[in-house]
Amino acid sequence: MLIEHYDLDVFTPPCSPGSTRFSAIARLEADLSDVLPYLHAMLDGSKYNPAAPALSWEKDSYFIVFNRDEIAVGNLVDRAEAERITGELVALVNDTWDRRAAITPDHSAHRRPPPMQVYGLLPQTNCKQCGEPTCFNFALKLIAQQVTPGQCPVLLEPECADRRAQLIAILPS
Ligand code: SF4
Repeated sequence: MLIEHYDLDVFTPPCSPGSTRFSAIARLEADLSDVLPYLHAMLDGSKYNPAAPALSWEKDSYFIVFNRDEIAVGNLVDRAEAERITGELVALVNDTWDRRAAITPDHSAHRRPPPMQVYGLLPQTNCKQCGEPTCFNFALKLIAQQVTPGQCPVLLEPECADRRAQLIAILPS
């Protein structure tokens, strides 16, 4: 078993004022780096960023990111759903890790994401604290690797951790 314990934070992102959906972050003691290529091989449509390392995956209506030491899930209805989905994902990781000898890992990396996908994960306040006139400009520079997610101060707020994780997962290294 790879993940034996995790702490779960459930919150409504301040990046999405008025949102009725929740996000969750499972903070792990385990390191998921080695299991990510095996998950990539198992999960249809998953996108692997080996440099992060991170694996993003959309399942039903959920956007999921596996990072080195956390699992982030977005678009949850409430805390009960967050606990259920997170528990299922932890079980998926552990099952994949236990069966890794029978799985051919997939180390292939994904292409650059489209601008609107990156923009959709930014706070969209156009506050200019990053030095860019709009969040869309910042999105374009993220894709071009001219800036990093850490240069948006709003994304550094703890409650935006899931969006930051999603960006890191889909952006080029
Ligand atoms: S710092 Fe930049 S990217 Fe972040 S919310 Fe403000 S304008 Fe948008």
